[in-house]
Amino acid sequence: MEQPYASIEEKLAQIKEANSSDQKKTILIIGAGIAGLVTAYELGNLGHEVCVLEGSGRLGGRVFTHHFSNGQYGELGAMRVPKSHDYTRHYINRLGLKMRPFIIEDKNQNNKLDLFGTVSSIKDSYEKIFSNLSLNPVEKKLIETDGIGAIYYHSVKRLLEQLSEEDIRHVFDLNAQKDAVSYLDKMSFLEHMHQEGLSDDAIKLIGSYISMNDYWHKNMINFVVDDILDAFNGLEEIVGGTSMLPLLLSMQVLPDGKQLKDKIYFNTEVTAINNREDSVQLILKKNGKLYQRNFDQVVCTVPFSVLRGIHLNGNISQEKKEAIYNMGYHSSTKLLLNCKKRFWESEDEIFGGASFSDLIYRQLYYPSDNASYKSSMISKGPGVLLASYTWEESARRLASFPLKDRTNIVVDKIKRIHPNIGDFIDVDEPSASMVWDQYKWSSGAFATHNPREVSSVFPVAKSPEGRLFFAGEHLSPFRGWMQGAIYSALDTCCELLRK
Ligand SMILES: Cc1cc2nc3c(=O)[nH]c(=O)nc-3n(C[C@H](O)[C@H](O)[C@H](O)COP(=O)(O)OP(=O)(O)OC[C@H]3O[C@@H](n4cnc5c(N)ncnc54)[C@H](O)[C@@H]3O)c2cc1C
Repeated sequence: MEQPYASIEEKLAQIKEANSSDQKKTILIIGAGIAGLVTAYELGNLGHEVCVLEGSGRLGGRVFTHHFSNGQYGELGAMRVPKSHDYTRHYINRLGLKMRPFIIEDKNQNNKLDLFGTVSSIKDSYEKIFSNLSLNPVEKKLIETDGIGAIYYHSVKRLLEQLSEEDIRHVFDLNAQKDAVSYLDKMSFLEHMHQEGLSDDAIKLIGSYISMNDYWHKNMINFVVDDILDAFNGLEEIVGGTSMLPLLLSMQVLPDGKQLKDKIYFNTEVTAINNREDSVQLILKKNGKLYQRNFDQVVCTVPFSVLRGIHLNGNISQEKKEAIYNMGYHSSTKLLLNCKKRFWESEDEIFGGASFSDLIYRQLYYPSDNASYKSSMISKGPGVLLASYTWEESARRLASFPLKDRTNIVVDKIKRIHPNIGDFIDVDEPSASMVWDQYKWSSGAFATHNPREVSSVFPVAKSPEGRLFFAGEHLSPFRGWMQGAIYSALDTCCELLRK
């Protein structure tokens, strides 16, 4: 099948073509996340004057590598890159960043499961956990032959088989005028499971195992896009941490001889946007003081979850405001544990991958960096566990506890699969955590489509309002991924240059 959306090469060629006029523009970009940085980098490279305003004191937005003082690090935001994500990989390659495999769940048979009150290694899980479920013969066979996630993957695959190549292209255009997209838009994930005729226990298993019950009420477009791109195959991570991507982007030298970072103004919060006929006026807050500035053209990469709280005045249509207010966002909380020794490698022979549970911490990821060497020297040393990666209800429940209590709760539950974990946690600097719902600059983790959202919110969500343009993960078909931020940024560069 042909790639159902413009390749990165095509998109960059479109930008060059759209730039045919000699007139140099002055463009203000709100946000120094991946979308804002890519917009500034590409437009700056074409010789336009760019300036980036960033509300926080940090680069990268939802790309956030946390470094403990011993040099060990973990990811509080984006952590892995699918093989098929050509837009993300383009920048990774261009910046010369190194990648290594990001190990996922099924590969390591020593990883653990703690489901329905029973603890097991993955290799013993069929006998200990799944044989007790009332699965039908087809479901049983799927698990036996293709692994625990197979019932889920097969049910989405059956849906994909009904889509033509044209339907798939429309899915990536988010064109709800088309029947196939409209169908997927209306269908919630839970409804789909029932329509597929899955047994109650199969649905319970899908919900509990990889936290899919946090997606029950999302529409099927979320899943179909990832499945078409086989997003969970061939995953890799950036060596040194995902934050290397925004960092190196910011260090690029533009044609005027300045680095992109010289054009970024940190701790500068946009509190109001007044969209006028002749300019875009921004009310900015810096060091507690408010002041206003006018700009010719503005690209706003602020997530809609945050934009809801910003005063929007002037020429901004009611439809656009409704799209901003109604876009669905997912909650997510992550907790990293700083461990003095990689006990999971030396004692349990677990090298990367995850352990899954239906308890409050849900998913525990082990670092992948020693997976190919399996060096005992490294195993004796420190490492960071992504001890808890949660979405939606689990994320909000964990978020309600202060960090110390949150850490204790997670550690206590993990003791069921790693009884000695308490002996290995660094007492001086035990943990770091991020509650994305409570982070002022994103007010949520990533956009996810609620049923009927594509038809009611797109394409108005994406369209510019006069001199005011919009970009970011939330305005792309690749929601919840850096690829979405980049794809949308390049789309917006084209739009802006064509005006
Ligand atoms: C928990 C989690 C896990 C993820 N895992 C992955 C993964 O494994 N792989 C992957 O590819 N993607 C992943 N993602 C998604 C990825 O991180 C995002 O899609 C992407 O980083 C979004 O980039 P953006 O530029 O659109 O938005 P953001 O990164 O949110 O950038 C917006 C910027 O605007 C700034 N801002 C906000 N309000 C204002 C204001 N009022 N004034 C000025 N500036 C403001 C913010 O500080 C921020 O820097 C994950 C995200 C989360 C939260």
